Amino acid sequence: MSCRSRSSRCAALPLVVRVPTLRGSEEGRRSWRHGSPAERATLQHVPATVIVGAQWGDEGKGKIVDLLAQESDLVCRYQGGPNAGHTIVVDGDTYKIRQIPSGIVAGKPSAIGAGCVVDPAVLISELDELESRGHPTAGFVFVSGNAHLVMPWHVALDGARERRLGRLQIGTTRRGIGPAYADKATRIGIRVQDLLDPKILRQKLELAVAEKNVWLERVYELEPFDVEGIVRTHLAFAERLGPYVADTSLLVDRALREGKRVLFEGAQGTLLDLDHGTYPFVTSSSPIAAGAAVSFGIGPNRIDEVVGVAKAYVTRVGEGPFPSEIEGPAHERVRELGQEFGTVTGRERRCGWLDLVALRFAVRVNGITSLALTKLDVLSGFAELPICARYRLPDGSETDEFPAHQSDFHHCRPVFETLPGWTGELVGDLPGPARAYVSFVEDALRVPVTLVGTGAGREAVLALG
Ligand code: GDP
Repeated sequence: MSCRSRSSRCAALPLVVRVPTLRGSEEGRRSWRHGSPAERATLQHVPATVIVGAQWGDEGKGKIVDLLAQESDLVCRYQGGPNAGHTIVVDGDTYKIRQIPSGIVAGKPSAIGAGCVVDPAVLISELDELESRGHPTAGFVFVSGNAHLVMPWHVALDGARERRLGRLQIGTTRRGIGPAYADKATRIGIRVQDLLDPKILRQKLELAVAEKNVWLERVYELEPFDVEGIVRTHLAFAERLGPYVADTSLLVDRALREGKRVLFEGAQGTLLDLDHGTYPFVTSSSPIAAGAAVSFGIGPNRIDEVVGVAKAYVTRVGEGPFPSEIEGPAHERVRELGQEFGTVTGRERRCGWLDLVALRFAVRVNGITSLALTKLDVLSGFAELPICARYRLPDGSETDEFPAHQSDFHHCRPVFETLPGWTGELVGDLPGPARAYVSFVEDALRVPVTLVGTGAGREAVLALG
């Protein structure tokens, strides 16, 4: 998965700066600097790079993608649907992007892979908005014909199921994503390419409406859908979206063969992965790095680097165990300073101290080669900063590996180590205790931290120089 075995191919291309794990006395040798975004991206960027959320999502992936996208030739979103929201702030303008890869803000060709689900109404409104804000989309946005559509009944069923589960609800965004992936797995989904053939589209819609109406009326006592209305709106969607439908596997394959730089962006995060996350409080797709190869139909050996994005603390939305959750007034303080409210839903996020056990797991399951540690600025002003170094299991033993069994995870307690805090804004070089905080993370995980987020703006990133 790395350049090491292909040095001749990589020689002419920008190489990742590989940073050895830093310990005490080596600390003095490193320097952090603000550089131009292009310079910073060159430090990081090799041909095929995956950007993956290393926690429970909302890590600030959008900003890191935006940064690296400036040096990319193609940006690819590999899973999820409009339940994920990336926030990008450029020159004071805020972009909240849900469906299209955030590379579009940097003016880069952007592709939505087969592993995504697409809500056509959301996609069209995003295309319209981007165009009205001066970002061309024709020839820049490509949607896999194999991606599945989020249909109105998926949204209705998502809400109805969560309401029925009551206290046991999963905490979904109620945007229909889970039901759309469920229909994909049961092979009754409707795909983007079905929009291109009115006859097939009508047939599939008639079948789906007939079945879903039974569920809606009999199980959930909701209004049924009118098939003619659905056909009409989807024929209109087809007209608008047709030109964007593409063979995204071939697109990526050709780009890589031509030596172009392709950036894959995941939504949500590792602990929300359907297979490897904290099931059932997970998303319905595969945010882990391997999901990029699956979604775009390329071999896993085409991926060169995996950049994990993690906050300098942790947040989690919705239900489920959260060992390092902050107790007391510091919780509200981190939430306010970090503005921890959902991009799409506005929901309050639960906040925790940095959890190295969970992050070590993310390094393992994604093959993370470097880390971007975002929102370090939010921790300024705390006298002390606890970091969760291990979990104490119900039998009293301690572990620094993520528990494989859900009951251990549900009942484990955090074991914190406390580091000194720092004060002041993070401009220019990092203060000593902030550097020590970053080094502590690198030492524990044996992965270099190559980018540090120091504020919400595009420029507020430090790169290891
Ligand atoms: P994503 O889905 O992983 O892109 O994360 P979100 O966009 O939901 O949340 C990240 C939030 O943090 C956004 O409001 C960003 O503007 C903001 N953000 C990103 N990096 C930093 C940082 O280093 N410091 C601060 N204070 N905010 C940041």
